[in-house]
Amino acid sequence: MTAAAPTVTHLRENPFELAKQQLRSVGEAFAIDENLVAVLSQCKKAVAVSIPTRMDDGSVHVFEGYRVTHNIARGPSKGGIRYHPDVTLDEVRSLAMWMTWKCALMGIPFGGAKGGVVCDPKSMSSGELERMTRRYTSEIINEIGPERDIPAPDVGTDAQVMAWIFDTYSMNKGHSVLGVVTGKPVQIGGSLGREEATARGAHYCLREALRKLDGQRIEGTTAAIQGFGNVGSYLAKFLAEDGGTVVAVSDSSGAFHNPNGIDVAAAFAHKRDTGTLAGLGGAEPISNEDLLLLECDVLAPCGLEQVIHEENAPRVKAKIVVEGANGPTTPGADAILEDQGVLVLPDVLANAGGVVVSYFEWVQGLQEYFWKEAEVNAKLNDIMTRAFHETWNTHEERSVSMRFAAYGLAVQRVGEATTTRGLYP
Ligand code: GLU
Repeated sequence: MTAAAPTVTHLRENPFELAKQQLRSVGEAFAIDENLVAVLSQCKKAVAVSIPTRMDDGSVHVFEGYRVTHNIARGPSKGGIRYHPDVTLDEVRSLAMWMTWKCALMGIPFGGAKGGVVCDPKSMSSGELERMTRRYTSEIINEIGPERDIPAPDVGTDAQVMAWIFDTYSMNKGHSVLGVVTGKPVQIGGSLGREEATARGAHYCLREALRKLDGQRIEGTTAAIQGFGNVGSYLAKFLAEDGGTVVAVSDSSGAFHNPNGIDVAAAFAHKRDTGTLAGLGGAEPISNEDLLLLECDVLAPCGLEQVIHEENAPRVKAKIVVEGANGPTTPGADAILEDQGVLVLPDVLANAGGVVVSYFEWVQGLQEYFWKEAEVNAKLNDIMTRAFHETWNTHEERSVSMRFAAYGLAVQRVGEATTTRGLYP
């Protein structure tokens, strides 16, 4: 047996209970029909599979995997696959529910889904990852498909993993099925701009928020970025390119602080070459917790859920929180931040750029006609900017937080689709 189980999980509270609690509160604030809230509180389908995998030492490790569809009222379900030791079925359920809201808020024709495998991808070889991914794909092959449910990358997975899913599915169908998964490598049907899309969307969202706050700009703002995976690393890059000062970055190895600005290009190269930020020069090592409490304009949690909670929220000094991750702020912390006047740009808005460009990739794959990167980015900008202003207007008109405004708009849209389609039979 390999891949030791974690001793401590990052989840302080049950994430699915939190997601349902958020839905109930939004239902009350927006006077949404109770029957509808009851329907949307549950996931439409959840499958749990066992994934026996041959490890490099000849042993067989049986991994546990999930794929959950929350809702399909607005279209096929969409959402990433997470490889992480802390994955639980309830975590995947909450992430699936958030995908439903995210797609509805963006106005793209998808419902919500998520998948996960309990594993530690950092300790696995490429061969082990490939065999596990192909077996997981075979186990969920009847659940996924271009008109049914379309996976994508999430924490711990990348374009290579998507390539294996695409290939396994296609081999079983006997022909290439481009629309079965998004976030694929560009040379086999991925979209230009997809890799950077989540961070680019967060960057557009922050740009609009700053404009609303007395016409401020990214140039001259200071930002602390928690998490240096796909989202955090590209967000740091975009902010630095736009004249912002990234005062701190972190990953699971620790955090690094320089009040005059981290050399983001050097951090990028260091992470690419060594796989970790550990040993990064030109910055003082601090704890991950201290990063969250730094004096700065913008705090961007871009890692896992529940990093901002009731205990540390009162000490957050940033003026704006940009949720690059899904669920980084607990509802308890949300209330505290709101009282402190911190503007939270919620996950379903701030990190939606990834699924928006996934939608573009799916469309391009179905049409077998691929767009220029400038076209992808311009269309992403349109969708993000529109969603930001719709959310901002609701936030002002109803005097609710940006999270409530975003969830409220999304739940109403899913509700309209559900009511218009009617209950079967
Ligand atoms: N995993 C990403 C998210 O949470 C992307 C999902 C997708 O592209 O389908 O939004």
